[in-house]
Amino acid sequence: MLGRLLAAALLAGLVGSAQAQPYPSRPITFVVPFAAGGPTDTLARILTERMRVPLGQTVIIENATGAAGSIGVGRVARAAPDGYTVSIGHWSTHVVNGAIYALPYDLLADFDPVALLPANPQLIVTKTSVPAKDLKELIDWLKQNQEKISAGTAGAGSASHVSGAYLQSITGTRFPFIPYRGTGPAIQDLIAGQLDIMVDQSSNSLPHVRSGKLKAYAVTAKSRLPSAPDIPSVDEAGMPGFYISVWHGLWVPKGTPKEAIAKLTAAVQETLADPAIRARLTELGQDIPPREQQTPEGLAAHHKAEIEKWWPIIKAANIKGE
Ligand code: ASP
Repeated sequence: MLGRLLAAALLAGLVGSAQAQPYPSRPITFVVPFAAGGPTDTLARILTERMRVPLGQTVIIENATGAAGSIGVGRVARAAPDGYTVSIGHWSTHVVNGAIYALPYDLLADFDPVALLPANPQLIVTKTSVPAKDLKELIDWLKQNQEKISAGTAGAGSASHVSGAYLQSITGTRFPFIPYRGTGPAIQDLIAGQLDIMVDQSSNSLPHVRSGKLKAYAVTAKSRLPSAPDIPSVDEAGMPGFYISVWHGLWVPKGTPKEAIAKLTAAVQETLADPAIRARLTELGQDIPPREQQTPEGLAAHHKAEIEKWWPIIKAANIKGE
């Protein structure tokens, strides 16, 4: 009896001291829902490397891939709401997937928002042996070769897939999409010539365009990227209005303590205010949101507005999940 009482007292003491420990008292895991080396992974690594300073803890990246990111996001939905498992995702994982998959979680109700993160447009890129010199020539080439070519994507419903399907509908072409666990590995196959075309985030493709391993025809934005002034906008190149901006965000499981969320938000804000980080992100074509949007409120408002805007469009396009 005395032993049991002692054990209970010890346990209570242990639990008490664990609760009293300020957050974060151990490493935090960021779940990247796509393959290593791709755009989401790259952004997560740039941010977490710097966030560990204000957090005073290591941040571990876990790549939980598959089904256009819905596997990894689901892993966070089911995690303990203690601030130690964080979901980094974007327009397609946290908006598009809700319109095309029967997800076992609710994108709004099962998560608490932490901060809106940078957004990048996409580049229409091909392997270097494609003879087209500009977007108009590329469209002709696609029409003539659609039987023979293929496009890489990060899975049905991913940003690269939705944009590729959009490109097909505008140009009246049809070619197969090859799903990968992220556009990191897909872009390597494009460089190697096993794929022909991709519409992928500038942060993934731009470094390869700069080094001459890929050809870029247009950026899916109203204006050219400051860090890539040679690549025309879709308006200039002949596909007006084909704008897609892949914005990112950070979420935690619903019910995470406010104190933990506030620490993560502050760490994001400090990171995105760092001139060295800003320069690296800008170089990749990422556009950093204003500080007041790098907040739970900023992300919540943007997320909701994007769901309202895109779900009807995606449902009407009848894109099917895997
Ligand atoms: N974000 C994906 C990745 O990191 C790419 C995509 O959605 O197209 O691979």
